[in-house]
Amino acid sequence: MENRGDLPVTYLLKPGELTLKGGNKPEFERALRRNLEALLRSTGAKVIPAKGRYFVHSPEDAAGAVEEALSRLMGISGWARTRVCGKSPEEVLRACVETAGECYAAGIGTFKVEARRTDKSFPLDSYEIRSRGGSAILEAWPGLTVDVHNPQAVINVEIRDRAYVYGMERRGLRGLPVGTAGRGLLLLSGGIDSPVAGFMMLSRGMKVDAVYFHAYPYTSDEARRKVVRLAEILGRYALGVRLHTLGFTEVQLRIKERAPEPWSTVLLRMAMMECAEKLARKTGLKCLITGESLSQVASQTVENLSCTQSRVGLPVLRPLIGMDKEDIIRKSEAIGAYAVSILPYEDCCVIFSPPHPVLRGNPQEAGELYEKLDLTALIEEALRTRTVEKCAYP
Ligand code: ATP
Ligand code: MG
Repeated sequence: MENRGDLPVTYLLKPGELTLKGGNKPEFERALRRNLEALLRSTGAKVIPAKGRYFVHSPEDAAGAVEEALSRLMGISGWARTRVCGKSPEEVLRACVETAGECYAAGIGTFKVEARRTDKSFPLDSYEIRSRGGSAILEAWPGLTVDVHNPQAVINVEIRDRAYVYGMERRGLRGLPVGTAGRGLLLLSGGIDSPVAGFMMLSRGMKVDAVYFHAYPYTSDEARRKVVRLAEILGRYALGVRLHTLGFTEVQLRIKERAPEPWSTVLLRMAMMECAEKLARKTGLKCLITGESLSQVASQTVENLSCTQSRVGLPVLRPLIGMDKEDIIRKSEAIGAYAVSILPYEDCCVIFSPPHPVLRGNPQEAGELYEKLDLTALIEEALRTRTVEKCAYP
């Protein structure tokens, strides 16, 4: 059926949640394939879809790059480098033994064999593949034992156009293919939370642009470069992220000048939201995304969140709203952002942070204070300072 050419290495990919889709499933499958092919572009590898699977055939010397690409593909639940052999019981059993031998060499002590037969003409049924595969492995590797409930390795056999046998399955990023859930605008600061929030929306299939409000010289150029690096890290999972940088110093100074000090953070967030919404509408983005998490800081009490979003019509998505800080940090480490997020360049100068912030702002009062700031022209001006860069992982 397929032509692998002279590509000797094969990977088998298992699509994740998209397998649960109904009539619109082909759309998700097309997006997954498109993203996969784009991630593999420079590797010389070839993608071949099959029923419930994707196969990637790769040159030997590109295997490292292919594995790296698969580790950042949204929408697959797992993947493995697989042996490919002819559909005779002898070849399949030999592949089981070789695969188990690799697992054994990697320190694994218990295993079970799983079998799936798409081609029902194969002489052994699934039960026979499991039991004969298990026996062959035990005979070849007496140090291994079977554990059907909690094995350290599962030796998988899939009989399709050819026979595929694989051991060490790697966990995929899961989620849905990026590009299947519309586009949103992430408010990206240099902190820990907002990059994680962006990752979570990417993993739901949303294509994300990012906006950073820069208050030069109160925030340094290092702080801005840190945000660029964070956007690049997000870009790894999304084939690049567009970062919009806006000069926000004048807005911040106006707030400092005219707002009651305890309100300054809430009013600044309101201004960021208003400006972000204008940018989103201009660029066709359908929602705003923030790294806010309930009660993490004073500006994120439920009352203050209602102030912050009170002047915005687009949905404001806060994927971290119910997450514990430690879990957010763990996620930040897992996506490779943490080391950058904790670099010491502050995203907001202390002169703008009130020592006694309001904890339970009233949206009406917030609205009245906000009106007095007369920010419309300054926000338009901030939008005019916009620079845009495409951030892809170097
Ligand atoms: P983070 O770790 O993402 O900075 P945080 O817990 O420090 O979040 P805040 O500083 O109150 O919380 O910011 C709340 C949210 O507002 C951030 O998660 C981010 O989405 C947005 N935000 C804050 N500062 C900026 C900025 N300078 N540019 C763009 N968005 C920002
Ligand atoms: Mg912050």
